[in-house]
Parts: sequence; structure tokens; C-alpha cells
Amino acid sequence: MPVDVFVVKGADAAQNAYEAMSRVFDEDASQLSILLKVNSGFKGKPATGLCTHPEAVRGLVRFFKEKHVKKLYVGDSSIVGTDTIEALKSVGIWQVCEEEGVECLNLDDSGIQERDIPDPVMVERLKLSRLAFEVDRVVSVPVMKTHMYAGASLSIKNMKGCLYQRDKTRLHRIFKPLPENARGKCLDYGIMDLAKICYADYALVDGTIAMEGFGPSGGTPVEMDLAVASKSPVAADIVSLRLMGMEPGDAPHIDLVRENKGLDENDIRVFPEDYLKWAKRFVRAGEQDLGLHYPQFSTLDRGACSACHAAVLQFFRYHHADFPDKGHITIACGSDLKEEELRAAAAEGEVVLVGNCTARFRDSYPFCKGCPPVPSQIKRTIEGGKTYDD
Ligand code: SF4
Repeated sequence: MPVDVFVVKGADAAQNAYEAMSRVFDEDASQLSILLKVNSGFKGKPATGLCTHPEAVRGLVRFFKEKHVKKLYVGDSSIVGTDTIEALKSVGIWQVCEEEGVECLNLDDSGIQERDIPDPVMVERLKLSRLAFEVDRVVSVPVMKTHMYAGASLSIKNMKGCLYQRDKTRLHRIFKPLPENARGKCLDYGIMDLAKICYADYALVDGTIAMEGFGPSGGTPVEMDLAVASKSPVAADIVSLRLMGMEPGDAPHIDLVRENKGLDENDIRVFPEDYLKWAKRFVRAGEQDLGLHYPQFSTLDRGACSACHAAVLQFFRYHHADFPDKGHITIACGSDLKEEELRAAAAEGEVVLVGNCTARFRDSYPFCKGCPPVPSQIKRTIEGGKTYDD
């Protein structure tokens, strides 16, 4: 059965979102409560590709208001260690909601909903924000961006923001063997498990200002000036990947969810047909980017989540020049680290473990605790050459 995806390109972000949603939404909104699940994972500047563009949110709010929606919410829950309301304010979404008279909220404030995962691969049960299950419809409204560990962060991965508080980090702390012939990492299968219970009814991928390179927080803005909408989030993500010049294998969780939802890629119809004239080849996220900027350092990232990435980036930003007397340093983070990889890194210089996910190796290397860790404490750990866990 065909699945339709619409791409709308233009200079007005609000108009693009409005038009794209009007192509896919055909219900009586006056009978529905709807959550626009935006991406405001980080604090930062508006319209930089870090978070959903506030004008795209405005376009959707106006669309649903004109449809006389029964109740509309705009919300998210930011990465661990970031205040969600401050993030929503910093990226301009809060202000748009105030101007449009719509409730904007931290999803964690709606309470907890625990759900079992059917046929679990990596996680059996997750805690989520209740509102995502109380509303009649959820629209996933991510910003289009690359992701250093998941390949890309689009409408499926955006739903990770519905995980309650620290449960957001659980998918990064999986210590299970991968299935035979695995096509991804533990995180990819964890996201697939999440999508079995928390999958939006609609997707509106905001490609106004996207992000390439060292996403999800340290990449470079890319002007795309488009919006991608579908009733099928996975189809919207596949089309978004194509617009980013990426293949399904570049973001394995999307392909795993496609398979799990039984979608044949050949069944996706895209309007307009010649939409790839707007595609760009995005620079992929990768740890080598950091190495280029900070030659004294390497990162050994094996499954760390966005919160650790943000802490390590901040550490580099503010402290990369603080160790002139030291040689090469490897910052190791993430739950999938292997002993032999650490040993190989130690042969090249110092190794510093960062984040609670690395605690099992703390007897062998200096360790900076925290979930997420604090950048200044990473510095102290390197200076002391010993475990910092006071
Ligand atoms: S220690 Fe780091 S990678 Fe592990 S869950 Fe916490 S923030 Fe994420």
C-alpha cells in the first residue's frame, strides 16, 4: 500500500510547515488533543539546526488552530542535565507558543507512564512521559540533523525525548549482546524497541536550518528551507535521509524500524517527484571531526548519548589548551567500550574514562564520574591523572 510523503520548499519556515502538514492531516481536529513533540534537547540559539525552528512550530500551531483543534500542546524533555524550559526559551519555541496562545511544557511534568516493550530486543520496559499517551495524536517535529552515534536524528529518534527523565540515557547503557547478523549497534535496536511503544501519528521534519557534521549538538548549520511531512514517521525519515544525501545504512535505526513496521521502501511515494533536486550531501558526524580540531585529543566513543557528547564538546571548547605538558590523550565514553580498544588507546598515550557508563574500567584508567559528567571535572581528572569521583 502506498505511503505518501510531501516535501515543501520555500523561504518562509512557517508556511512550509503549514503547507506540508495540510497535505497529510485529514482528520477532524476539533475532536482531538494533539501534542507537537518538538526537539529542544539543548540550550542554544534559535534557527541554528540545534533544535526545531520556532517558525516551523508557529506554522504547525496556526494550522491546527485554524482546524479548531480541541487542545494543542507543544513540548519536549531535554537531554539529562539541561533544563527543558530554559532550552525551550533559548531556542525561541516558548516565545512562539506565548504569542500564539498555546501551552508549552516540559513533558516530564506530565508524570510517568511505564510501558512493556512487545517482543523486546534490548529493553523490556521503559518509563515515558504520560502526556504522549494521554493525547489523541502526537506529531513528531524534529530538526533535520546528523548524529554522531545514530547517524541521523529525525522523527523516530526525536521520540526519545518522551522518555522520562533519566530513562533517556537507558538506551545508551545497554550491556546486551547484539542479535545475530546485527545491522546496527545496541542503541539502534534500543530505538527500535522504543518505536514499538512510542511512535508518532504524524511527522513533520523541520529542514529549515538543518545540521551536518558533528551533530546532534556540535555540527554546522545547513540552509535547506524545506519541510517533510507524512503520516508515516519512518517514511518521512527515509525521505529526509535521501535529502541529506544519506543511505538507509547510514542511520541503521531507521531501517530497523522500517522493517519492524513492515514498510517496503518501494511503497513510498514522494511529492513532488523531483524533490531530490533539493538534496545536499551532508557531512556525516564522526569522531574524526574532533581529532581535526584538537590534535592533542582522540575520542573513543562507543555508544555514548547526547548528554555525554555535549559534556565532551564543552570540555574541548573550554579546556582543550589546558594541558601543554601532556602528550596525547584519549577521552573514552559510552557503554559499548571494549577492553582491547582501551588497551590500544593506552599504547598511544593517556586514556581518561568519562561518564558512569565507563565505570567498569575505573580500576585501570583515570575515571570522571557523572551522568552526564561535568566538563570541569573532566579537566580535573586529566590534571590529577587519577579517578575523580568526589
Ligand atoms: S554516562 Fe554519559 S553516555 Fe552514559 S548515560 Fe550518562 S550521559 Fe549518557
